[in-house]
Amino acid sequence: MSEVPFSDLKAQYRSIRREIEAAIQGVVESQRFIGGSVLEQFERSFAEATEARYAVGVSNGTAALSLALEAAGIREGDEVILPSLTFAATAEAVCHVGAVPVFVDSDPDTMTMSVQSAEAHINARTRCVIPVHIYGNPCDMNAIVALAMVHDLIVVEDAAQAHLARYDDRPIGSFGDVATYSFFPGKNLGAYGDAGAITTDNGDLSDRVRQLRDHGRSGKYVHEVIGYNHRMDAVQAAVLSVKLRYLASWTDARRGIARKYDDAFSAADLQILSTASGADASYHLYPIRVEHRDSVLEMITSAGVGVGLHYPIPLHDQPAFAGFVKPDSDLATSERIARSEISLPIYPEMTDGQVDQVIEVVLAATARVHG
Ligand SMILES: *Cc1c(COP(=O)(O)O)cnc(C)c1O
Repeated sequence: MSEVPFSDLKAQYRSIRREIEAAIQGVVESQRFIGGSVLEQFERSFAEATEARYAVGVSNGTAALSLALEAAGIREGDEVILPSLTFAATAEAVCHVGAVPVFVDSDPDTMTMSVQSAEAHINARTRCVIPVHIYGNPCDMNAIVALAMVHDLIVVEDAAQAHLARYDDRPIGSFGDVATYSFFPGKNLGAYGDAGAITTDNGDLSDRVRQLRDHGRSGKYVHEVIGYNHRMDAVQAAVLSVKLRYLASWTDARRGIARKYDDAFSAADLQILSTASGADASYHLYPIRVEHRDSVLEMITSAGVGVGLHYPIPLHDQPAFAGFVKPDSDLATSERIARSEISLPIYPEMTDGQVDQVIEVVLAATARVHG
């Protein structure tokens, strides 16, 4: 049997090569590399695709998070609730604005932030909550928005893994005050380098992010606030505009593969992802959970199937964030997920044969290890 890589960006490039090369060439001919109509066009298209009033392109998903937090007024001493089971960037951004990350547990079925655990960590200093649609799986946004209303919290949706995921017949990102996206090359919508965006319906907030990303300018020579160089460049915007036209069909393809995996694994000795009611995930990743993870992992990889781990060390166990861990925090579910999770290949260009091969290899490995 041939190998199945964990992801295959070259297959995607081959399928859209001509359009991509024309788009990049257009930017090179224009010699307009920063800002300009290519970026504005992408921002309009991305706002439309996510049903947001405004989209602002920025340099990466981490910058999107910290600019969103800063523009929403989160500052030194504020506490921000986030799941421990996420990529480090979510917590880094909180620290970059001087706020305090408060790590909470995950739900054992959906693997997204546990709303009960979030509620248990709210106190008088809590100003904001960051639901992370991890793996592309929508958080329970009705419950989170209700909780935020009661406690007057700002909601920043970390949608870095969840482009076009839906919840209650609306795109995720439209529930909180602002949503943040990453276009890291391996994300569902990936640039040819680093890029990110925020979306919001709040015009003031989007204006503040626009100002912060470009040195705090209010005019060419006037710097109104201390800003950053966190702009998205035009080559990335051009590439992303081409790819955005395919994103809905790529997302459907990911969902189709997830259905096949779900059907094949539902009776097997492993745990699959559950979605919240009314949620339609975008399947950036397809996580399974198994006992004896190391043995299963070894058998899967030696059979030629590429896998990833998301994430083997929850943030409350990372050296960088040790100073923020409250001694009485119960984060047992995130720890259990971190010990048992394996991400299987899931990308739109996978062939039926590759999907069948992954299924066969995973079923054989779990049956042998657990049986
Ligand atoms: C990728 C990712 C980010 C950071 O995005 P970058 O573009 O790599 O800076 C933030 N949060 C989550 C959940 C991510 O997966």
